[in-house]
Amino acid sequence: MKKLIVQKYGGSSVANPEKIKNVAKRVVRYKKKGNDLVVVVSALGDTTDELIELASQISAEPPEREMDMLLSTGEQISVALLAMAIHELGYEAISLTGSQVGIITDTVHTRARIVKIEANKIHQELKKGKVVIVAGFQGMTPDKDITTLGRGGSDLTAVALAKTLEANECEIYTDVEGIFTTDPRIEPKARKIDEITYDEMLEMASLGAQVMQARSIEVAKKFDVPIQVRSSFSENCGTMIIKEVKNMEDVAVTGITLNKSESKITICNVPDKPGIAAKIFNQLAQGGINVDMIVQNVSHTRQTDISFTVPKVDSQKAIKLTQRAAQEIGELEVLEDLDIARVSIVGVGMKTHSGVAAGMFETLAKEKINIEMISTSEISISCIIKKKFAETAVKSLHEKFDLAKR
Ligand code: ASP
Ligand code: MG
Repeated sequence: MKKLIVQKYGGSSVANPEKIKNVAKRVVRYKKKGNDLVVVVSALGDTTDELIELASQISAEPPEREMDMLLSTGEQISVALLAMAIHELGYEAISLTGSQVGIITDTVHTRARIVKIEANKIHQELKKGKVVIVAGFQGMTPDKDITTLGRGGSDLTAVALAKTLEANECEIYTDVEGIFTTDPRIEPKARKIDEITYDEMLEMASLGAQVMQARSIEVAKKFDVPIQVRSSFSENCGTMIIKEVKNMEDVAVTGITLNKSESKITICNVPDKPGIAAKIFNQLAQGGINVDMIVQNVSHTRQTDISFTVPKVDSQKAIKLTQRAAQEIGELEVLEDLDIARVSIVGVGMKTHSGVAAGMFETLAKEKINIEMISTSEISISCIIKKKFAETAVKSLHEKFDLAKR
């Protein structure tokens, strides 16, 4: 049966001419089987980072519209080169920018949302027998301004196209074999997961597993687009991200994530009365800071400490805003801790298994690791610990929850 397949190749899969040729061969193999192919590509290697760096040499705060104009060039290079590589192999391909496809977004530059996709152009080109290559990560406002979809946004382009085109398959190619129980660089016993639910993947992505953009998984979940994450350098099957996996209640923990990109801020001796937390977090919200974990201690003395985490990149700004709020409340001391890590366990099975949290805390205790903050969701438990214990924590939890076997 003829299938419509959407494939997305990440920056590491197209980092140099050899790798682009490798992708072209793979694409042609699928094409030869009689399938229609829509291929989404990211910018070569670290191009996007390099462009951001370049801009920073011109301006400390470049206009976001111009940032989008600049960053979208990365993907324009890779689609053209891949189309050429496919031509070299004797097949027809056409490269298209986001605006040529008709990926219409809102007007929020650097993190635009897709409003709609006009599929006509793609269908026309497919009908002519061409492989359609689409620049990931970019779209266009109704006023024809170029936008980008937030870092890692090519995943979103692929998922949204798979949904719009009603593709039979959506494959996300990267440089790892799939989703692992934890980062194999930390725990060599980490195992590739065959199937994982959208919810678990979403949780893992937002907790630090950097395989797919979190927003793209949200969209996949919303429209029930099954995704396979796999490696462009091997023939092995990857990980299926789907609504429900077989025996999903059997295991409590599916994966472990580690995130070292947050810092902790503490305001000491905050008066324990209504409106104080609102004052602090309003300041931060107005500054556009995304506050994550928040812990307020119980007070016995009418004073309490409030701690929260923010992304490290926002840390300086967050400290300033917190100090301002602390000043207004009454000369309170503000502390910053950059040496923290968040280790999290994730699994839908947690909903029905008891003792998972206790198991996690016990494991950390055995390693003499102090837990500084705890937060939970329905399918995850996170602990903030000192950064130097991060790897030990991951390994001992991997062992505790038997993740190497299954
Ligand atoms: N090139 C963009 C980035 O690095 C988009 C992507 O890779 O998906 O964020
Ligand atoms: Mg990238």
